[in-house]
This record gives sequence, C-alpha cells and structure tokens, in this order.
Amino acid sequence: MRLALFALFPPLGLCLHRPKHTMNILWPARTQTTEMEKASVRVVLTMLFFIITSLGLKAQQYDLLIKNGRVIDPKNKIDTKMDVAIAEGKISKVAKDIPATQSKKVIDATGLLVTPGFIDMHSHVFVGSNPDIFADGIYSVSADDFSFKSGVTTVVDAGTSGWRSFPAFKSNVIDKSQTRILAFINIAGAGMIGNPDQEDVNDMSAQMTALTIQKYPDIIVGVKIGHYEGSDWTPFDRALEAGNMAKVPIFVECHLPKYSLEDQLNKMRPGDIITHSYEKITERESVVDDQGKVKPFVLDAKKKGVLFDVGHGGFGFWFSEALPSLQQGLAPNTFGSDLHRFSMNSGMKNMLNIMSKYLNMNMEVPDIIQRATWNAAQSLKRNDVGSLTEGSVADIAVISILTGNYGFIDAGGNKINGSRKFESELTIRAGKIVWDMNGLSAQTFNSKR
Ligand SMILES: [Zn+2]
Repeated sequence: MRLALFALFPPLGLCLHRPKHTMNILWPARTQTTEMEKASVRVVLTMLFFIITSLGLKAQQYDLLIKNGRVIDPKNKIDTKMDVAIAEGKISKVAKDIPATQSKKVIDATGLLVTPGFIDMHSHVFVGSNPDIFADGIYSVSADDFSFKSGVTTVVDAGTSGWRSFPAFKSNVIDKSQTRILAFINIAGAGMIGNPDQEDVNDMSAQMTALTIQKYPDIIVGVKIGHYEGSDWTPFDRALEAGNMAKVPIFVECHLPKYSLEDQLNKMRPGDIITHSYEKITERESVVDDQGKVKPFVLDAKKKGVLFDVGHGGFGFWFSEALPSLQQGLAPNTFGSDLHRFSMNSGMKNMLNIMSKYLNMNMEVPDIIQRATWNAAQSLKRNDVGSLTEGSVADIAVISILTGNYGFIDAGGNKINGSRKFESELTIRAGKIVWDMNGLSAQTFNSKR
C-alpha cells in the first residue's frame, strides 16, 4: 500500500531536482551547499509522507461502515438512526456518526433498516442426490441458494438428519455452506428417509441422539419429533428423554396424526418449540375453534413457555388460523419457513415473504425483526447470533420496505392484499457482503476510459 502510494506520487522526490541543463548556468557557485540542503529536505518530506500515509491507514480501522440506516437490534434495545462499523468479520462499533474516513468501505443505508441477519428456525437443507426423500436427498434444498437473498444468515435444519446421518450432513453440507447451518436432529436415527422406515422405534435411541448433540454442541440445537403415524408415545417420549439428557429443546413438527394437539402441548416443557402452528389440515388439530377463538389449552401452553414457530411450508400456514391467533395473543415466537423443494415455490416463497405477511397483518416492524433475530437466537440458546452486539460476528441484513400493491398467499390458496413488502437489499455474513440487490456496495460505472 505504501509502496503503491509512493509510486503514485514521485513528484515528492523528483520536484527537488533542478532541470539538468540549467544547473551550471543558474547556480554555479553553491553546488555543494544546495546538494546537502536538497538531501535534507528530501529526507524530511519522505518522512512526512510516510507519517501521513500511516496515519491515514490507521484511521481506516474498519473494513466496512454502514451509515445512516435505521438500526433495529432488539437484544440491545436499539431502534434509531445509527452507524454500524465492521472489522475482521465482527461488529466493531454501533454508534451515531462514525466518520466515513475511518472505514475502507462505506455503505449509505439512508431509508433502510439495518438489523442482525435473520434466523430461519425451520428448514430442510440436507440436500443430496437420493430420490424421493429429504435426508441426503432431492426433497431438501441448498441453504445458500435461498438464504442471503432474503436476509437470512442462519438456518436451522428441522430434523432432516438423525444421529446416524448427521456426520454426513455436517461434512457434505454444513461445512461447505456459507450460510450458518444449525440443526435439530431427528429422534429417528436415519433422519427423514420416508415412512415407514423413519418410524422404526428400534432406531430411536435417546442415548445416541444425546451423545451426538453433546459431540457437536456448536451445531446441534435440539431434538426433532415428527412424521410418526402410530399412536404409541414412545417416539415423543424418546425425543423428550434425549432433550433432557442433552439439555436442549425439542422441536415438534407435524405428521403426528394420532397424537392430540392438547396431549402434545401438555407433554412439552417450557422452551420446547412447536412448528406449523397455524396449520389447518386433518392430521393436525387447529389452534382455533370453529368460532375463530384460540383454544384455551393452546393459550395455557403458551403461558407455560411453549414456543410457537410459524413453519409455513407448503401446508403449514393459513390466514384463517394465523390472523385470529395474532389478534388473540398467540403471535408466533419465530418465523420458520419450512423451506424445502415443495414449499419454495408455493405461497411461502421465503422467510422474508412470511415477514411481509405479518407486516400486512399489522405487526409492527420492530416486533417482526425481533422474531426474526433475537427471539430465534434465544429459543436456540445461542446468544452469539441474532444481535449487533459489539464483538459478535457481523451477520447483518439491510432491508428496504417497498410500497405498492402486493398479494400474499397462504397454504390454502387464500390471498390477502397488502401495500408494503420487505426486500433484502444487502446481506453480510461474518463481515463479508454475500448479497447486494441494487449495488449498494458497488461503485458507479463510469463510461469514460
Ligand atoms: Zn419441516
């Protein structure tokens, strides 16, 4: 850098030289003195140059500075115009008016939201080549293909792998993804390999599940139970047993048609998570009754500390359940998308679209951001993500709120119209720009050569 600058400014040294052809004509008598003077001045100027250059470099202590955005950081109770500075992949400073000269790169986020990167609580990303299944199969999708373009920097896989298949999931997918992938592991040892194979109670080991969680504490965040069509409670109890042993929550999915919703909620502990909360299909009893009232035992479960995730997916979100729930105190704790091959092109689309649905159901913007960030981190017991705390990893979403005429579709093909919509402008993962919708970080093209 210094050498490059020195090469750019040779006049600092060369300007002291007289034109050779004038030397003996104009200054014949003082040759010895002037050479010494010139040498001294040259040394001083060179030193000055290095001092100024190094001061300039030192002043640029940040790699990236996001200025003038509306920073919403629920963990730190921030919702105001602030600047966010990043250095070496971490949040270095969040403050008002951080000078642009202190950063190598500056992004103007005027009119935009600047929030922690979003956490998608429910996805299926153990993608592989096996046909007709989710685990290591084509029913799952690649996290990086979907995450950053909707502001998501962390996805949680919902039990696509079990303790037997988790090592392959880790080495083939998790370790190779830019998106941070956390996982609930399935109580079924092989994970989501389809019925009836995934229903073999003999392959539901609480011990092996707990041991695997303890072996990968940075990645595995809980135990998933779902996709069991028997009436025997052994799978559910084994999931709880593994959760107790490893001290992690259980994540209750759907496709448990013989278990009543009330029994499931009664068995769940505070901090356990139920997903597909606003589903309206025969195999999952609805949370609201025929009169549109949220059932009292559901509100009791919420009071007890059970956490309700959206888990939209292809079938898991209905306005007929979600709207009365929102109005009657059963707002979702998190916005899990249940992203997979069959939901990605449905009414779900991506997590940002689910957030836009809630925006048009009149949930306040800070409440939406809280559910997409700090609520999710807390329910996963992961204080290292979901905030803009100084010193934490720089996972950031820069979001615009577009206005216009929009339509939002639920799992039943019902639509609500809306006038606002979130769009992901810029996503930063560990300090690196991984999505830039409109070139916020790019320099304007100059046609002059
Ligand atoms: Zn799912």
